[in-house]
Amino acid sequence: MLANTGSRYGPTAPLAGLGPVLDRAEPFAVIAKPCDLGALHAYAASDPRVDDLCVARLALVCGGQPRLEKSADVLAEVGVDEDEVSLFRYRGHGNPGPTRVETTDGRSFERTYLEMWEDEAGWKVETRCKFCPHALGEAADIAAADVWPGGAPTGDDEGFNGIIVRTPTGEALVRSAVEAGALVLGRPIDPREFDELQPHQVRKKEALASRFAGLAEAGIPTINTTGLRVDLLGRRLNPEARLAEQAGTLRRATEGRFTEPLPASPTDRPNDHA
Ligand code: SF4
Repeated sequence: MLANTGSRYGPTAPLAGLGPVLDRAEPFAVIAKPCDLGALHAYAASDPRVDDLCVARLALVCGGQPRLEKSADVLAEVGVDEDEVSLFRYRGHGNPGPTRVETTDGRSFERTYLEMWEDEAGWKVETRCKFCPHALGEAADIAAADVWPGGAPTGDDEGFNGIIVRTPTGEALVRSAVEAGALVLGRPIDPREFDELQPHQVRKKEALASRFAGLAEAGIPTINTTGLRVDLLGRRLNPEARLAEQAGTLRRATEGRFTEPLPASPTDRPNDHA
């Protein structure tokens, strides 16, 4: 598991390798983004082997996956071509640590966490992340989160994280990790304190119902959010804020900002016939 830390934080096809894993009929665990675990959870409704064999589901609390453009911008800023890169890490060199780029000829470049992420307008997250109803890992047994007051670090710390333990399976896993000496527990954090530690998640979840209303008004299908408290939390926004979210979503949809070209089908790709 440790060898695979620093895995790619990007779009995945979470069910793509699942069939062979289930066919092995052996216990397995999944560590994934919340949306990927949401897909696993939905698939489990049609294949009981998932719940029989998947012994643990772990997620990070997800601020959204940046488009590849965010990484490309960093490379452009430091004057490095993509084919010169030997390492690109957003995290993993401290907590939060800098974003670090290393090149095949031995150069290295760093940007602090705040340089990268202080301005939310520059996050460049995928469209679907702006409509994500379960970024807090709601289908996970345990979700791990950064816990900086106000949602942003003031410097590097010793590597504290918060965990949201959602199920008896998660509780048992935490207990066994503590007993094995792999985890040291700090003080409990109650849900309202977590609001202070992840304020952008609160803002997003409160805005979602209005954003979905904007999508619907634009004729774009929305997703099923049963059980994710989207309407309930949406009612916490005042009417002006609700209308602003809805109108903003409608405007962006009308401007085509939520669409992208579909991949060409094999019959449309000339090289596939060569
Ligand atoms: S914000 Fe949601 S949709 Fe985006 S990567 Fe995170 S979990 Fe997935």
